[in-house]
Amino acid sequence: MKLVVQVRLLPTPEQVAALKATLRACNDAANFASVTAFTAGDRREYALRKHTYREVKARGLGAQAAQQVIKKVADAYTTLKANARAGNLGPQGCARRIRAESKPIAFRADAAQPFDDRCLSWDHTAHTVSIWTTTGRLKKVAFTGSLDQLKMLALYRKGESDLVCRDGMWFLYATCEIPDVPVTEPDGFIGVDLGIANIATTSDGTRHCGKGLNAVRHRNRELRSWSFHQLGSFIAYKAARHGVAVIHVDSAYTSQACSACGHVDKRNRPDQNTFSCTSCGFAEHADVNAARNIASRGVAGWAVSHAADDAA
Ligand SMILES: [Zn+2]
Repeated sequence: MKLVVQVRLLPTPEQVAALKATLRACNDAANFASVTAFTAGDRREYALRKHTYREVKARGLGAQAAQQVIKKVADAYTTLKANARAGNLGPQGCARRIRAESKPIAFRADAAQPFDDRCLSWDHTAHTVSIWTTTGRLKKVAFTGSLDQLKMLALYRKGESDLVCRDGMWFLYATCEIPDVPVTEPDGFIGVDLGIANIATTSDGTRHCGKGLNAVRHRNRELRSWSFHQLGSFIAYKAARHGVAVIHVDSAYTSQACSACGHVDKRNRPDQNTFSCTSCGFAEHADVNAARNIASRGVAGWAVSHAADDAA
C-alpha cells in the first residue's frame, strides 16, 4: 500500500532563498514546456521530452530536474484529461470545461516540484536532507515530523518526494510503500453512516462532526462528495495498515429500517434526527439506527463474501 508522509523542513534563510529560486526556475520551465505541449498538441512525456528537454535543461536545470519538470507537465495534462473524461469539469461544452481545456496549464511560481533519489537524499539519523537546487546542492537541511511519521519514512520511503511551499512553510511529501498486513477474521463490525449534519455516525452511538470538516466540505462544494470520498480513503488505508476488514454495503433503506426488528416504514422517521419504530417501539437517534443497520449488513456481507473461502 502506498501512502504519503509529510515532514516539515526547517531551512535557514539562505536555504529558503535557494529553495524559492529552485521552485521558480522549475515552474518557469514547466510553463514553457506546458505551452509547447499545448501548441504541439502532443502532451505525452516522450514527445514532450523530445521537444523541450534541451531548452528546459539550458534554463539552469540539471538533467534529472529537467526530466522531472517534463514529467510533471505531462502528468498534469494526463490528470486534466482524466478529470474531463470523468465529468469532474462539467459536461462537454460547459464554460468551465472549455476554460480549462482552451489554454495551456499554468504552474504557479511556487507550485510543488517532485524530486527523485538523485536530487534528494535522506539522513534518517541526523534528520536532514541533501537537496539539489539551482544554486548548488544544499546539505544538511533539517526536517521534523511526528515520531510515527519519522519511523515510517525511515522504514518504507520509496520513490519520489514533492517539495511543497505552503503558507510560507516548507514541506516534503514523501511516498512510502507499506507492506500489506493480512486481514484478520473480524469478531464484529462497526457501521459508519455518512451524513450532512454529522459527517460520520458509528453504530456504537458516536456522532462525529466538526467545524473544520464543514469548512473543508464548503470549500469543496463544487466536487460535492469530496469529503466522503476522502474519509472513505482514510478509513480504507488506516484499516489496511492494521489488517482490519472494511466492507462497503448498500445503503438503501438503512435510514427507514428498524435496527431492532427490521420493520421498514417511512413513518419510522418522524423527523431528521429521530428514529421511532412504528412496529416495536424501538427509539434511537436516526443516524445511530442507520449505522446499526450498516453494521448488520457488514456482518452479512462478510459472511457472503467468505462463504466461498470456507467451502473451498
Ligand atoms: Zn422495530
